[in-house]
Amino acid sequence: MAEETMPSSLRQKPVYRFAPSPNGPLHLGHALSAFLNHDMARDNGGHFLLRIEDIDQTRCTPALEQAIYDDLGWLGLDWERPVRRQSEHFDEYRVALDRLIDAGLAYPAFLSRGETKAIVRIFEAGGGVWPRDPDGAPLYPAVDRQRPEAERAALLASGRQHAWRLDMEKAIRAVGVPLFWQEGGDGERGRIEALPALWGDVVLSRSDAPSSYHLSVVVDDALQGITHVVRGLDLFHATAIHRLLQHLLDLPQPVYHHHRLILGADGRKLSKSEGSTGLSALHAEGAAPSDIRRLVGLL
Ligand code: GLU
Repeated sequence: MAEETMPSSLRQKPVYRFAPSPNGPLHLGHALSAFLNHDMARDNGGHFLLRIEDIDQTRCTPALEQAIYDDLGWLGLDWERPVRRQSEHFDEYRVALDRLIDAGLAYPAFLSRGETKAIVRIFEAGGGVWPRDPDGAPLYPAVDRQRPEAERAALLASGRQHAWRLDMEKAIRAVGVPLFWQEGGDGERGRIEALPALWGDVVLSRSDAPSSYHLSVVVDDALQGITHVVRGLDLFHATAIHRLLQHLLDLPQPVYHHHRLILGADGRKLSKSEGSTGLSALHAEGAAPSDIRRLVGLL
């Protein structure tokens, strides 16, 4: 039955989520995201969930997590409990990772950040232009992907630290059809073709964290029944990776709304270290929640 011909009682309620990482204080950009998710859920009779994206246990702290609850509470937002904390679900991400490994679509990556940088630097010093992803980061070198199986097994057996990376070319071949997503945000809209190849062999789990942003986000969006992903335009192109992983892991696809970014005085995206736009700093200076709505252009 088409969604619009369904009796309203049978229609699935939309589910939205705000998914901050507690690795710094929330700023105006987060406020815009949180307000939009909350307001869309309210206006469409849906659910508003909060997810704490704390897989990076070296940078995320309980105090910063508490500050998220305090800031959102101050803004007058209310979310459904329990809150999903990614650090409590590493086993679920591992199941997804194992599925990709078993399908031959992931490989152990042994290069450290420094080694990767050195390979790129040497190549570019020789006059070459190393390919970069849409965020400007160099693509991961092919050395680990091309490593002979016996060498790979020996390195794993030796206990050498490693990440797991997606073999992008193989993954795209395994999907076999072009992928798209439905976009209703502030940038390009409509049916967008996903171009995951631009990202190269993305990381699925890190040597210092048992998952990655990309893997956890698709697993969680599916497990939480998220129907609408509303987040900043800085994640527009990464959606291609999410669509690919959703397809490979048989996960449902939400619709997407990538909203405009709040820029700092220098015209750049706000960063978590920018005190002047931090929500708790604005609160301490006497701002009211309505001032925050006005500052992010919602009033
Ligand atoms: N945790 C991400 C961030 O704080 C957001 C991820 C998402 O909404 O998909 O930027």
